[in-house]
Amino acid sequence: NSERLYLGMDFGSSGARYALIDKQAQIIAEAKREYPLYLDGESVNWARSWKETLFSLLEDVPVQLRPLVCSISIDGTSATTMIVNRDGGSSCFISLVIVVYESVAFRLVDAALQGSHYVGLFCIMRVARMLYQHQNKDSAALLHQADWLLWLLHGKLGISDYNNALKVGFDPEMDSYPPWLLSQPYSSVLPSILAPGSAIANVKEDVRKRLGFSEDCVVCAGTTDSIAAFLAARATEPGKAVTSLGSTLAIKLLSNTRVEDARFGVYSHRLDDMWLVGGASNTGGAVLRQLFTDEQLEKLSEQINPALPSSLDYYPLPAAGERFPVADPDMQPRLHPRPDSDSDYLHGVLESIARIEAKGYGLLKDLGATGADEVFTAGGGAKNDKWTKIRERVLALPVSRAVQTEAAYGAALLALKGAR
Ligand code: ADP
Repeated sequence: NSERLYLGMDFGSSGARYALIDKQAQIIAEAKREYPLYLDGESVNWARSWKETLFSLLEDVPVQLRPLVCSISIDGTSATTMIVNRDGGSSCFISLVIVVYESVAFRLVDAALQGSHYVGLFCIMRVARMLYQHQNKDSAALLHQADWLLWLLHGKLGISDYNNALKVGFDPEMDSYPPWLLSQPYSSVLPSILAPGSAIANVKEDVRKRLGFSEDCVVCAGTTDSIAAFLAARATEPGKAVTSLGSTLAIKLLSNTRVEDARFGVYSHRLDDMWLVGGASNTGGAVLRQLFTDEQLEKLSEQINPALPSSLDYYPLPAAGERFPVADPDMQPRLHPRPDSDSDYLHGVLESIARIEAKGYGLLKDLGATGADEVFTAGGGAKNDKWTKIRERVLALPVSRAVQTEAAYGAALLALKGAR
């Protein structure tokens, strides 16, 4: 049997998944696990939970398929960063400090990308604070969640990818850390950076022997969870976009140009020779959930004629404040007047959200991104075909549901890329 398989793993906020694919990117096996809870006194020992989940998931891969796996990649949340001992060794559990960045970091990082010095200071203060809490400062290394999990498999400490490292100040355009960061006393903790999906090293001998992976199974650099979810939709050319209709509305567009605008919280991740430009509005499913149950959403949607434009002009928000595509922290939700018919009301709300989405893609283009030419949809709103039709009319673009949206599948595609 010469079949070759590629393994992707996603470490999300509540649990982890794996997806095993073949050369044609078809899913051969998949599974998920919730994180077991370990307490160190009062605090949760996340690293232990992740490590255990990593190996449980590897054991969930059917034993006869494991020798066929040629490459492995992992995505995780880049907001989770940890400091580990360089001399931690692979057998004993390393001590670490985990800092989960507050959402304010996002705004600051946006500003950092525009060259503000204040943020440089903020980044390095964060690193310095972690180091201060860390016992053995000279032998410390900074890693993201995915970097650390990958390290458990390949054993070369101090390697990350340019998606995860964006938030610790790596400049993906210069392909280096900026000089101000490199001149800091703690810069030796910063990881070396590879492109997501590049081969790092073969799976360590002890791991592969214990679990039955092959000798030349290679571990590849990972990415962040939201980029892996984008990759899953297989939007691979400039102009292809993914709208995620979850609690909020998030858009991501592949562009030939890099776009950054702190006012709107717009920034770009590098993807090979392209840029993944993103923006997120506070509108989305959370407002729908305030107004209707999911069953009502389904029933009322059936009564909508998506070819007819709704004259109702709302700006649905779950609370005051919007950032993208309108930057106004005091913006009030607008959901009136409410017509007698609930389905007319829903039609108006869905169409208004579609207009916000269209305005979002318009804004990215105005800021210099490649224009969107096709939109794939992910999230709970993707299953609403009437909404898809409304969005198609309002966006004047082909809109469809993404076939795959699991980040683990996106990570498997990175593994497939790295194995070639
Ligand atoms: P998240 O992961 O961001 O919490 P999901 O991707 O699970 O969100 O999507 C959940 C959202 O999808 C809910 O806020 C809900 O309002 C919305 N939703 C559920 N069913 C429908 C539907 N039939 N039409 C439109 N939206 C829906």
